[in-house]
Amino acid sequence: MKEVKIKSYAKVNLVLDCLYKRPDGYHEVEMIMQTINLFDKINIKPYKEINVRTDHPLVPNDQRNLAYQAALLVQKKYPEIKGVEINIEKFIPVEAGLAGGSSNAASVILGMNKLFGLSMTQGEMLEMAAKLGSDVPFFLTSPTALAQGRGEKLTQLKDCPLLWLVLVKPPFGVKTSEVYQNLNLIHRKSQTNIKKYIKALEEGDKDYLTKMLYNILETSTLKLYPEVYHLKERLKKMGAKNVLMSGSGPTVFALFSSQEEAQNFSLKIKEEALQVFLACTIDGKLYKERIEENAI
Ligand code: ATP
Repeated sequence: MKEVKIKSYAKVNLVLDCLYKRPDGYHEVEMIMQTINLFDKINIKPYKEINVRTDHPLVPNDQRNLAYQAALLVQKKYPEIKGVEINIEKFIPVEAGLAGGSSNAASVILGMNKLFGLSMTQGEMLEMAAKLGSDVPFFLTSPTALAQGRGEKLTQLKDCPLLWLVLVKPPFGVKTSEVYQNLNLIHRKSQTNIKKYIKALEEGDKDYLTKMLYNILETSTLKLYPEVYHLKERLKKMGAKNVLMSGSGPTVFALFSSQEEAQNFSLKIKEEALQVFLACTIDGKLYKERIEENAI
């Protein structure tokens, strides 16, 4: 029998802008998505039914798990598959703005494609992913991408040069829907310079990339959860020049160009209630290596 092992990476948004609210209720977004080397470990092997196991108390093991839903979609397309056992070791914090659930779902599509030799095209997998959530398709493309529409229209971007992140997660979760419901686009910056940001990626301009971070959802989350505002301010006072909330929060990250700087900064954060992670950006080569197949 075979099994596949996948590193299911988290993402941060280096830029997250909402242009307007659409008639279907979703926001038209423009985001630069970046995968980072904070990951859940997923093992998938053939089984008599779909069975999901996780080691995190807040993550369901049943049909509510996005990984389960992904397996169900693959099985619907390929009814000859009896089932899979999916074991998820969670390292990405939950309801954190790091899209752990979406990443797990994409990993299951990719993993089952490999495990059963399904030879699904990129387009077929993306179509499946879009049914599971707006952030899922991104994890089937490139480690750095521009996301538009609801987040499902993706353009591959040049790999981000190596940047180091210190991620800090406060001791509570945030529901993405609540953040979007409380978003007032009056606070939108009229000029977010996404084109310049993409150019900076092409030129590997670390200075611009770290300075021009932007996330419009901060205007909503920081009002709903002032703790996140105070956390950002504390990190700035401690010497972090470039601090941004990821996705809908509450995780915030500080960016550094060297590992040493990031490591030293992470050691300064001593509050017990905070979870602190040191991570770096992922490039195309590492991304390709995230899935491996073994005989068991
Ligand atoms: P996003 O920014 O996409 O909303 P997030 O990091 O804020 O992501 P997740 O950690 O992905 O949020 O989880 C959001 C909810 O999804 C949680 O309430 C969790 O119970 C549920 N969930 C379902 N499947 C998973 C999974 N495989 N891993 C984590 N959470 C999951």
